[in-house]
Amino acid sequence: MKHWVKKGLERLGVLFFPQLCACCNAELNSGEQVLCLSCVLQLPRTAFHHIPENRAFQNFTGRVPIERATSFVYFTKEGMMQHLLHQLKYRNRPDIGRYMGKLMVADLEKAGWLDTIDAIIPVPLHRSKLYQRGYNQATCFAEGIAAAADLPVYDKLLLRKQATATQTRKSRAERIANVQEAFLLKHPEQLAGKHVLLVDDVLTTGATLEACALALKKTSGIQISVATLALAID
Ligand SMILES: [Zn+2]
Repeated sequence: MKHWVKKGLERLGVLFFPQLCACCNAELNSGEQVLCLSCVLQLPRTAFHHIPENRAFQNFTGRVPIERATSFVYFTKEGMMQHLLHQLKYRNRPDIGRYMGKLMVADLEKAGWLDTIDAIIPVPLHRSKLYQRGYNQATCFAEGIAAAADLPVYDKLLLRKQATATQTRKSRAERIANVQEAFLLKHPEQLAGKHVLLVDDVLTTGATLEACALALKKTSGIQISVATLALAID
């Protein structure tokens, strides 16, 4: 392709995604995707898949029975994940979710953590928010896991009935009341007897995931595990 044609197309943004690390902005080497190797090595991984009673799992203890839970990395307001998650959610970078899903699977598969999982269900967005953002960041993360682990994603069965108000300033109890009735499971028979992996981008109080798990529990013989890209810590 002629240089000036390429330049023109690049300027229009239709040809090439800027090949910069989504975290530190360093130019990516060939073979690197989304993150440079240095940032991949610095990811604040939790290694929760080696610890059955980890902090992600404890979030659900006594609230809703689940098989196991894990979060790939820690998220703090000052840490490297702040910038990454912000881009995933608000800066039209669904590729970050898919990439992080693939990275997580590499860890989980070594530990056999995914062995009994049959299907992946992302925490849904309300359709108005989906329309506004253009994609569901939890679905992107789910797609990354699915592609790497060769599992199906069911993203049409669990629906968000109401657009919940911003959760940021609410207490845990208020958040749970707010989301408890927000989810609806269609065609529960499709999940009967299956072990599903419920996934979301960030685990904060767990209220949203708990409400989703309660909606899924209406299916006979279902087993539920949870995986999130990040666990929010102070
Ligand atoms: Zn980097």
